Formats: sequence, structure tokens, C-alpha cells
Amino acid sequence: MRGILVVISGPSGAGKGTVCRALIKSLPDVHLSVSATTRQARAGEIDHVHYYFITRTEFQERIARREMLEWADVYGDFYGTPREPVDRILNQGRDVILEIDVQGALQIREQMPEAVLVFLSPPSFTELERRLRKRGTDTDERIGQRLDWAHRELRSFPSYDYVVINDRVEAAVEKIVAVIVAEKCRTKRFQLLDSNPYT
Ligand code: 5GP
Repeated sequence: MRGILVVISGPSGAGKGTVCRALIKSLPDVHLSVSATTRQARAGEIDHVHYYFITRTEFQERIARREMLEWADVYGDFYGTPREPVDRILNQGRDVILEIDVQGALQIREQMPEAVLVFLSPPSFTELERRLRKRGTDTDERIGQRLDWAHRELRSFPSYDYVVINDRVEAAVEKIVAVIVAEKCRTKRFQLLDSNPYT
């Protein structure tokens, strides 16, 4: 059976990164996709591990060669999911997680209707702002920009299959694990099997 593509998305500050790292620990067989980006690496980030850090020219060439499954301009930097590893790993029957922004998730919805889209939401706007400030990586202007975006992004949650409110990381991870387990039991996934015992 082909693996499941699980998209964890939502506004920045929702805690996507933290939740995905914890999720991978709970589900060691699941592959977390490594995105390409044109933004500068932050302290502690490793090329090929946290992101593929590439130039804008290279990014545009990859888009032209259709090597990006989805991509988006997020606050002036490009971010995208390399297509080949995702296809290969899904075909091996392993599940893949994408941690991407809302624009990217909506592209996946169009291209891969069988993907499972999870909207990770912060518990409140006050908490979102607190998290963005605590991170200490952004200027006040950038934080304001991220909050404006978040207001707009929160409106797109009806396009997703599930909403998980991230008030506590362990609880959010538990809910996403439950979503994946349930998705694996869906009848439509069994209809895809040649050896389906139920047809
Ligand atoms: P950051 O710069 O904080 O690592 O990420 C900024 C935003 O870009 C986050 O919302 C993150 O989820 C999103 N992002 C990371 N990788 C991708 C990707 O491959 N595609 C899209 N569309 N967004 C991404």
C-alpha cells in the first residue's frame, strides 16, 4: 500500500516545527520531508538536515524543471518541497510528513487529493504573539508581518481535513498520531490494494 502524505500546516508560531519533531520521535518510520529555501540559515541550522539552503536562481531553475511538489514565497523568501524524495518514499509504502505554510498546503490539496491536511492552530492570538516574540529570531516589523499573515491564514482552515489546537505539544502529537492511525483504516485506502480481501 502506498504511504500517506500528511501535511502539517498553519500560521508560523502555531508550533509546527516543535510538533513535527516530537511526532517523528513517536513515529520513527515516518519520513519528515526536508524543504529547500532561499533564506539564510539560522544559528544551529544544518544544510541538508533542517533545509536545503539554495540560491534564488537555483530555486527558480528547480521550479522550471518541475522538481518542486509545491512552493511558496513566505515573507520574501522561497520555500518548497522537493518532489522526488516524497514520491519515492510514498511508493515504498512509508508515510511522509510535510511541515509547510498554508499556501503550500492548498497546492497539495489541489495536486494530491488523497493527502491528509492537518491545520495546526495556536490556542489564541495572544499566545501566537507571545511565541513569535519568545523565539527571538525576528524583528518587531517581521513579527507584525507574521501576525497579519496569521490572521489571513486562520481563515483557510475549512480547506483542511483536521484541526489540531496546539495548547500542549504532547496532546497535539497524540491527536495527529490518532489521525494517521484512523486514516490508515479508511475504506478508500483498501480499495487501492490489488489483493483487497473485501472486494
Ligand atoms: P522558517 O523560516 O521559520 O523556518 O519557516 C517559515 C515558514 O515557511 C513556516 O511557516 C514553515 O512552515 C514554512 N515552510 C517551510 N518549508 C516549507 C516548504 O517546503 N513549503 C512551504 N510552502 N512552506 C514551507
